[in-house]
Amino acid sequence: MTDSLAQRVSDELLPFVRHPAQYIGGEVNQLVRPGDWRAADVRVVIGFPDTYAIGMSHLGCQILYWLCNHTPGVCAERTYAPWIDAERVMREKGIPLFTWDTRQPVAEADIFAISLQYELCFTTLLNMLDLAGIPLRSADRTDAHPLVIVGGPQADNPEPVADFVDLVVIGDGEHSMREILAAYREYKAAGVGRREMIERMARRFPWIYAPNLYDARFHDDGTLAGYKPRGAGLPERIERCKTPDFDAVPFPTRPLVPWVEVVHDRISIEIMRGCPQVCRFCHAGFTKRPLNLRSVDRILEIAEQAYAATGQQEIGLLSLSTADYPHLRELADRLNERFAPRRVNLSFPSLRVDKMLQNIPQMANAVRKGGITMAVEAARDDMRRAIRKKVTDGNLLDGVREVYKAGWQRIKLYFMCGFPGEREEDIRGIVDIAEAISLERAKLGLPPGNVTASIGWLVPKPFTPFQWMAQPRVAYFRRVRDMLRDIARNRGRGFRVHVSGHAGYGAAAEMASENPWKAASQI
Ligand code: SF4
Repeated sequence: MTDSLAQRVSDELLPFVRHPAQYIGGEVNQLVRPGDWRAADVRVVIGFPDTYAIGMSHLGCQILYWLCNHTPGVCAERTYAPWIDAERVMREKGIPLFTWDTRQPVAEADIFAISLQYELCFTTLLNMLDLAGIPLRSADRTDAHPLVIVGGPQADNPEPVADFVDLVVIGDGEHSMREILAAYREYKAAGVGRREMIERMARRFPWIYAPNLYDARFHDDGTLAGYKPRGAGLPERIERCKTPDFDAVPFPTRPLVPWVEVVHDRISIEIMRGCPQVCRFCHAGFTKRPLNLRSVDRILEIAEQAYAATGQQEIGLLSLSTADYPHLRELADRLNERFAPRRVNLSFPSLRVDKMLQNIPQMANAVRKGGITMAVEAARDDMRRAIRKKVTDGNLLDGVREVYKAGWQRIKLYFMCGFPGEREEDIRGIVDIAEAISLERAKLGLPPGNVTASIGWLVPKPFTPFQWMAQPRVAYFRRVRDMLRDIARNRGRGFRVHVSGHAGYGAAAEMASENPWKAASQI
């Protein structure tokens, strides 16, 4: 079956799709070799419910891939969502979803572990299950099917996908995956079947939620009141899994290097987990606590090893808010000292605007000056105060001026609309501030800055103060979108406005806790 599947992918799929190189696997630093899958006690497929270009840029999947394949007796392969043309061919020819490493059928895994990063991937999860030939509903699966386990930020609100998954992991992936692999191996050796295994896992690990073992309770008005475990020994309240020693946790020092262009083609090093800020809308800020830091020495060690193994020309220092990493200056200086002579750039993907100014010296020497991104979120000081975003027009313009002086000319600004109490001036203010930022460069005697204001919609997130808030109706977002486009059309020189069209879908998925089938069909 497997050999013939590998052959079928080569003969019947790859010649008929537009970008076949994204499906061939075998990247530099792939950990799985032919024969590993068959020899393993526990076979895992790590799935990312989006395209290869996005999935390969996701550090979490590379960490789990590394961790699983460094666990004795375990083989982990990867799969991603095929693009539309590939899916069409696969469905026409009956080619099931396969793994990228050695083209195994995903349905033959013991564990299918999927990272849910955003609401819009819920339907892709269903599509991937269907393509794999795994029954969509957990209740319809048998011992012949893998355990479908989801984690990641969207697992914090798993009800929209509750019928379709067997287990939900809340919290960090490293510690939980290690524990799950050990438990699975033990149960499999003892001949425990999937239903019993799900129950045992749910009782054993306080951070595992098995949706099928809980009943929903509702208030008189029909709103959700909570969930009650069906059996004894199941936790009433699910805890968040925390990685005990963040600095010592395994990290992929030989990351995969794709053959094709992907979204982030660089060495990515997570320098800090969590964020000391608590912006009111931010799920990550509220859930990833306490703050975990990776030491400067460990980061340097990872950077050296990853560079030697990949030859990448950029090192991304990742965290939710890199400017809050307390040793950033020392880290940037020491990395620069080692890597600048080798022409390796550093990137700081998530610097807070209010800290931008003080970080310009490190960035100016170390970062390629393509473009710089600032998450402004709201256009006016009072609204930013209301959402607890510590940015003012003053420090925004001060930061931008220094950015221009240091040589950048392209700036991307992120905004959100749909905050409670939002007024027309908050919407119009987006264009005003984008224009002001563009013109700030002209004040230095240079052409206006090239500014793009990107506007997304607030999706109220669980565990934030906005979690019970009703999202404005789609009609409101359409009106805002049209207003912004009109204003920008009449005013825009030097800046552009890009408005997302996905809010309604994201919120529908986030809030559809009572009827996931209905939600999935609405999306
Ligand atoms: S600074 Fe960014 S990551 Fe931190 S809480 Fe605010 S929005 Fe979230």
